[in-house]
Amino acid sequence: MNKINVVIFGPPGSGKGTQSEKIVECFQLKYLSTGDFLRSEIACKSSLGLRAQQYMDKGQLVPDSLVIDLIESFIDKNKESPGFLFDGFPRTCDQAVALSDMLKRLKQKISLVVALNVSEKELVGRIQKRGLISNRKDDQDVTIIKNRIKEYELKTRTVLDFYKNNFTRLLEINGEDSIDDIFLMIKKEITLLSAL
Ligand code: ADP
Repeated sequence: MNKINVVIFGPPGSGKGTQSEKIVECFQLKYLSTGDFLRSEIACKSSLGLRAQQYMDKGQLVPDSLVIDLIESFIDKNKESPGFLFDGFPRTCDQAVALSDMLKRLKQKISLVVALNVSEKELVGRIQKRGLISNRKDDQDVTIIKNRIKEYELKTRTVLDFYKNNFTRLLEINGEDSIDDIFLMIKKEITLLSAL
């Protein structure tokens, strides 16, 4: 069977994590969330974690070199999996180029980008709500939340153009639809790809 590599894309709070759980369960893709990775590096107080924390606490993107190294070793260790699901990566065009080079070396590519669109007002509300139950500091302060959305607009949104220019299959979804409806659309698309 073809390897299926999916990028789930969208601003913070757009529902990437929620959909990722469903996708992984359904298609057994190897899941990689750079945010989770970085948070576990912070929890074990590694030098990478300590460096990343300074940026994350302000709602800024962590420098490309830190996340690219993490991704590279993850892909290397899991290259036999049926495919990958990338959540929160790539977040800059340099990251997108690095990812496509890594996959090229394995004779693979990104099969699908799922982009979730959600209005800023809704994003802030969702993240604040999440902040009440999670212990994520960056979900509990409205200035940090807004900064993350600003970083997305400044540095991440343009990653979509990178994929459009590379003719990567793109599924754009209204992220304000219901969780189940969104998943059905994604499921249909990945099922189609698996059959190719
Ligand atoms: P969210 O999508 O809600 O912002 P994440 O867990 O994906 O949550 O990211 C949390 C933080 O981790 C980001 O604000 C950023 O500081 C850092 N981060 C995660 N992924 C990347 C990445 N690919 N490049 C740079 N920074 C990242």
